[in-house]
Parts: sequence; C-alpha cells; structure tokens
Amino acid sequence: MFPIDQFQSLHTPFYYYDIALLRHTLETVVTESGKYPNYHVHYAIKANHDPKLLSIIASHGLGADCVSGGEIACAIQAGIPSHQIVYAGVGKSDAEIALALEHEIGCFNVESLAELRVINEIAEKMHRQARVAFRVNPDVDAHTHEKITTGLSENKFGISLAHLSQAVEEAKQLSAVTLVGLHFHIGSQIEQMHVFQTLCERINTIVSQLTDQGIALQSINVGGGLGVDYRHPLDHPLPDFAKYFHTFHSHLRLPQGTEIHFELGRSIICQCGHLISRVLYVKEGEAKKFVILDAGMNDLIRPAMYGARHHITHLTASHDAATETYDIVGPICESSDIFAIAQQFPHTRRGDLLAIHSAGAYGQSMASCYNSRPLAPAVYSEV
Ligand SMILES: *Cc1c(COP(=O)(O)O)cnc(C)c1O
Repeated sequence: MFPIDQFQSLHTPFYYYDIALLRHTLETVVTESGKYPNYHVHYAIKANHDPKLLSIIASHGLGADCVSGGEIACAIQAGIPSHQIVYAGVGKSDAEIALALEHEIGCFNVESLAELRVINEIAEKMHRQARVAFRVNPDVDAHTHEKITTGLSENKFGISLAHLSQAVEEAKQLSAVTLVGLHFHIGSQIEQMHVFQTLCERINTIVSQLTDQGIALQSINVGGGLGVDYRHPLDHPLPDFAKYFHTFHSHLRLPQGTEIHFELGRSIICQCGHLISRVLYVKEGEAKKFVILDAGMNDLIRPAMYGARHHITHLTASHDAATETYDIVGPICESSDIFAIAQQFPHTRRGDLLAIHSAGAYGQSMASCYNSRPLAPAVYSEV
C-alpha cells in the first residue's frame, strides 16, 4: 500500500496523500448524493486546503464551504465556480465580505443580525445583491467531542430560534440582501445517524413554522460533520455516504423543490492522508518505553488539542519482531505532544518509519511552525 522505498529516500516528516482513495471517495459522494436530484455538496476547505487536492475535488463538481476570505480565494484558484461557494463564520471582516460580494458567491451563511446589517451596507455601496441564509442554532447535541460541538444554544455559532423570526423580518426590509434559506451545522466527527435524524426533525419544525408565516425558502443547508473511523482506517477508508444521504432523504420533509446543501470536510479528505514520520530515538524511561518521532504536535495538533487518537502503523518492522508497549511521542517541548499511550507495537529502532493514519483532515491545514520547525510538505501517490 505504501511505497516504502520511496519513503526511505525522503526527508521526514511529510504528509502522504493517496490520490486513488480521494478519487474513489469523491466518486462515491457524487454517486450517492446524485440519487437525490436537489442535493448539492460543498467541500469544507478548512479540513485541508492543499491546492492539488482542491483541484481534484473541484474536478468532481463539488462546491466549496469557506470560513474566511483566504478560503474563498483558494476555492476560486482551484476552479470552483463562485456560485457554488458558501461562506460561514461568526466574524467576517468588511474586507472579506467585499471579496465575497465581488466574486458573487452563492450564499453568505449569516450568524447574527449585526452581520446581516453590515453585509447589506457593504453590498449597497458595491451595487451588489447578497444572497444570504441564516445560520440557525438548532440546539441539537451532536454527541461528539465538546470542542467540536457547535449546535448547542451555549455555543457561539448561529442565530437562536428565539431570534429567527425577527431576523427574517429584518432581512425583508433590507434592500441589498436576499434571504434564500437556512443553514445548520451542529458539529464534527458525528458517528451516530440518529443525530442527523434529530437535526432533520428540528429542521422540519422550523421550516414549517416559517412557511406558516408566509416565508418560502429556496434552500436548506444541513452543514457537515459526518464522522470517519479513526480506529480502523485501513479496513474502513470510506464513511457510509449512502446511509448518510439516505438519512436526510428519509427524514427531511420540505416543500417540493427545496435545494438541500451539504458541507462535508473530514469525511471527504481524512482517510486519504497519512503523516509519515521517522523514529529519532527509543528511550527507556523508569516505567515506560518511549518512541520519539520527528513529527510533533505542530505537524498534527489533533491529539494535543482534542485528545484525538490516530491509528499508527509501523512501516518497516521485521516480520518476526516481538511486540512491546510504547508511548509514541513527538519532539515538541509540551507534555501534550503525545500520539499514543501504551501502544502495543513491534519492537522499534531508531530510523524506523511510522504512519499516523486518518491525517488528511485538520492535519496539514492546522499545522504551525511552533518551535521554529518547518512545515511538513505534501507527497502525493500520483503526480
Ligand atoms: C467545519 C465546518 C464544516 C465541515 O465539518 P466536517 O466535520 O469536517 O464535515 C461544515 N460547515 C461549517 C460551517 C464548518 O464550520
């Protein structure tokens, strides 16, 4: 599966992207969402903005979900048509709003009344019309890690249900904004389909209340958040997209012709990326053995930031190597720079190569130069 001979000649650490898997994942997304004629999928660029990967994603016809002006520029650079770009974020700056208006993006996902007024003001000055959707905080628990839960009323995101009617009334009064729909994004790494079912039921109630008030909506954006299998990434490289889209098809009850938009990040890009690292030292501690890697939390921050655990495999162990127990750690001067605790692993030596799997999403895009370390480059399975 991995070109070990090629890896031996490369400087580590680096991100390795399996392009065949990315294409297979994208084809599956396109096929499964394509079963429902009004479904539109946007790729959430913040998961990974690598230009080569983005251009492959664009070539499969996906739109983009952006959370900054920089991401809007990345999407356009990759060839994603601007009408397929949606733009979310609680803190859009004036310059970012102007950039989005200049490119006539598909939709602003508006997170507050204050933001709505600013978009209207800037659009008026530019003689543009802004298409907007209100990001509604539906108060649905995503049953995921607290740091990636976004749809509870205590989170900073979106407009609360209590303020929605007022926001809709105000949007009608503003001349340079057109309300096209509602947006929901309740969190990330959601593994249980019943969470999406609950979201659908909440959306049905909200939309029917608005319909009763005489407000027709062109589109509903259900956000992203579909989880991946971090425990068995090599056995389950693809999330169950068929079940995911079918869950929405079975539970959403919307007026005929309503467009349904999705914003998938992790589920598209996660499993095709692997962080490849070399063992610098094997250290015998008092009570533990440590494998010290040349990759650290600056390259992949998820373990330190979210307590995430990534499956790790040994790429160069001999077949008859005995099993030992190691903590696998990075070189950074932080105690949280740990990739695995008490991992059963083949006997390991300095110079061995390891692969940290499921690193395609929120890996390279969140990397930093902390400790003045260079950014790990990308290597692709196809040029
Ligand atoms: C991060 C984000 C997404 C993508 O989430 P995934 O869990 O990677 O699918 C979608 N929409 C919004 C608004 C986001 O902030």
